Amino acid sequence: MPLTIEFDNSYARLPDRFFAPQAPVPVAAPELIVVNDALARELGIDPAELRSHEGVEMLAGNAIPEGAAPLSQAYAGHQFGGWVPQLGDGRAVLLGEVVGAEGRRDLQLKGSGRTPFSRGGDGRAWLGPVLREYLVSEAMYALGIPTTRALAAVSTGERVQREQGRDGAVLTRIAASHIRVGTFQYFAARQDVEALQLLTNHVIERHYPTATDAISLLDQVLEAQAGLIAQWMSVGFIHGVMNTDNMAVSGETIDYGPCAFMDTFHAEKVFSSIDQFGRYAWCQQPLVAPWNLAQFASCLLPLMGEETAAIEQATAIIHSFPDRYQRHWRRQFGAKIGLVEAGLEDDALIDGLLSLMQAQNADFTNTFHALAGGDARQEFDDPTAFDVWETSWRDRVQRETNPEARMQAANPAVIPRNHQIEAAISQAEGGDFTLFHRLNAALATPYELDTANADLALPPTPEQVVPNTFCGT
Ligand code: AMP
Ligand code: MG
Repeated sequence: MPLTIEFDNSYARLPDRFFAPQAPVPVAAPELIVVNDALARELGIDPAELRSHEGVEMLAGNAIPEGAAPLSQAYAGHQFGGWVPQLGDGRAVLLGEVVGAEGRRDLQLKGSGRTPFSRGGDGRAWLGPVLREYLVSEAMYALGIPTTRALAAVSTGERVQREQGRDGAVLTRIAASHIRVGTFQYFAARQDVEALQLLTNHVIERHYPTATDAISLLDQVLEAQAGLIAQWMSVGFIHGVMNTDNMAVSGETIDYGPCAFMDTFHAEKVFSSIDQFGRYAWCQQPLVAPWNLAQFASCLLPLMGEETAAIEQATAIIHSFPDRYQRHWRRQFGAKIGLVEAGLEDDALIDGLLSLMQAQNADFTNTFHALAGGDARQEFDDPTAFDVWETSWRDRVQRETNPEARMQAANPAVIPRNHQIEAAISQAEGGDFTLFHRLNAALATPYELDTANADLALPPTPEQVVPNTFCGT
């Protein structure tokens, strides 16, 4: 079956220094794991084509479809606060862009072999992180949170060497674009103002068509990030590596490495094994985002004209982050306790519940989910403290119309729990993808849970708790 994907590769039309032309490196024996049929259709791609021999060859990087212009993107970034002047796609190839129902989308293979940006790495991915990214990014999408998506996963029939030998895999990632704060930093560090202007124009046209200049672009990118981080917080999501190279200017969540959703609530929770000092803890995320955005702003300064005025304007925008974020936070968490419009005066109520949850190790997802049904009490070891909170909450919620429906729409019944992801991965390593597919199906409708999947909503038992997540490299 010949592939009929229609590419239109706007990034490849940017100057040579934006990327390195790079074909994926073929693999020994590709086998299809999963195709996301609904997403394929949204992109105007026939899922049957992707499942065909030619399709699998493309998804594995063994064949380049007609119209593709494969390349690896250049970028730089701050990793854990330390400057790295050159990163780039070290294990990814952008095949090209397709224009589907939701607009222009990148089609990228991740784990597709070495590139000029690989540094010491092998350019590959192993099955675990590929399945993790597939599950979590699709769960985020179903939760209504802007995110890159997963179109397909294939195994390569090759082993990759990590702490131990692992099965290799390739993920096909779909994104509004893969342009990062670090892409701007790459050119800013090289004082390449021409490239910065071209990149800015490209991003405005592609993601922020109402922006008129670098200042309004900064303003809109910041607004998107403020909303995004509040959404992460509202589902207990911890990204884990909020380096500037992992912040997409489109406002999508990108780079699912050592990310995780919390089970028991703790504001300072960290999962990533490499985040020793808790830089990217749950409660740090709204502080890290404006730090990253300040780096973005400084890249844009050369495009902002008269210098002192520009610095003042950009600074004012960065300083507006906390207030804007707070507004998004109130909207998100207000809805979670049934309020149509939470105000400053409701902060104590929201914070009160979170404090109780933290003090008693209550499960984040299940506690909120139980509120609408009136049985959140059972989530607490010592429910008397909750009873006090509940009385004042009921008082407040009385003034709302249909708060139950609001809560049901804001509080998922099921999220991708770490222990389930780990279990799905270890099953898959043995060749059994049953749990992976089951999780994937259940997470597609996270606000309603089939009784047959009730086990997927259970918090981990003490033996099942996964204390650390590892980078997907
Ligand atoms: P990440 O931590 O996944 O955001 O990756 C940070 C940087 O390391 C990016 O430039 C990646 O392309 C690169 N990288 C990660 N894993 C590998 C690998 N296995 N081979 C080559 N480069 C890699
Ligand atoms: Mg990255």
